[in-house]
Amino acid sequence: MKLTFIKQIIFDADDTLWENNIYYVRATDDFIKLLTSKGFNRDQIQKEFDDLEFKVVEERGYGSYNFVYILETLYQRYQNHIDYKDFKTIIDRFSEHPKIKPRLFEGVIETLTYLKEKYKLFVLTKGDFKEQEQKILNAGIHRLVNAYFIVPEKDDSVYKQIIAQHHWSPEETCMVGNSPKSDINPALRVGMFAIYIPYSDTWKLDDEKILPVNGRFLQVDRFPELKKVF
Ligand SMILES: [Mg+2]
Repeated sequence: MKLTFIKQIIFDADDTLWENNIYYVRATDDFIKLLTSKGFNRDQIQKEFDDLEFKVVEERGYGSYNFVYILETLYQRYQNHIDYKDFKTIIDRFSEHPKIKPRLFEGVIETLTYLKEKYKLFVLTKGDFKEQEQKILNAGIHRLVNAYFIVPEKDDSVYKQIIAQHHWSPEETCMVGNSPKSDINPALRVGMFAIYIPYSDTWKLDDEKILPVNGRFLQVDRFPELKKVF
């Protein structure tokens, strides 16, 4: 199947172009281990983390600073049981990742280079503006796309707004991403085409059941497979 009717392609960034959630998962696991090693119940701590994460994301949004705030809040609850040095090691290791070049998935640069000859390419990512922009620049993605959009949340209204602003028709616009909740379902709801690239470690707050629309949805397993589709 060749999607010859598509004119512009919008890419999600985190866990679509590069690894992202693994840093969060690793830091969370390391933190929980500090407490289970002192006899605390794993499920209980995980639940406390999940509840707090949900609340903080609602109130403050996404991004590594808000994630560190979650761990700091939990640290304060349990500080009599945790060695501060051990806690700081986890935070320091986690905080390194937004500053360095993102670990791009295999074939991302060559695939974008191929696609940009035929299509207008864009990035749409949610989170802290400076942090997301720094990752785009560090990865060199800005050189391969026409523009990038960084928003606090990726919901239907954002997709509608981008389409309207550029006078695109939704059915000629394709969203590519790993998140059913932020990339695929909202794009389909506003009439766009959507390509889902599953990622094994997709963040649970980014996951939900995909509601595919006939003729406007496709799944590929790896980024370079986009070359067969376009
Ligand atoms: Mg993503």
